[in-house]
Amino acid sequence: MVGTECLFCDIGNGKIQADFVCRMKDCFVIKDINPVAPIHFLVIPFAHLTYVDEFIRGDYEIVSSMFGAATESAKKAGILDSGYRLVINQKGHAGQQIEHLHLHVMGGAQLGTMA
Ligand code: AMP
Ligand code: ZN
Repeated sequence: MVGTECLFCDIGNGKIQADFVCRMKDCFVIKDINPVAPIHFLVIPFAHLTYVDEFIRGDYEIVSSMFGAATESAKKAGILDSGYRLVINQKGHAGQQIEHLHLHVMGGAQLGTMA
């Protein structure tokens, strides 16, 4: 099989390279290729989840592990105490570019106000 046609699935299964911060059982963390803050990570589940409003029961366990990974990676980056922003963009008006669930972890400087 060549590719799954999903960038984040292919990063998760090793077909496409990325700058990994850490790997857990259900999810992994990479550096965002186009950072908008000094620290900008993406927490991505190995499973191809898409939209929060389509989650089924078992998906919440994965999401829980994503928040654990966000905390771990923020700790590793030394931004736990200075503060950081967690964002999940959903669909058009949020500007979601990749339809594979991902949690942004941003920090390392004073962030601007939200839209
Ligand atoms: P969103 O707009 O919430 O869908 O965010 C998608 C994010 O993925 C953007 O911040 C992009 O910079 C980031 N991104 C796109 N391609 C890659 C890649 N190959 N490796 C790391 N981050 C990426
Ligand atoms: Zn995917």
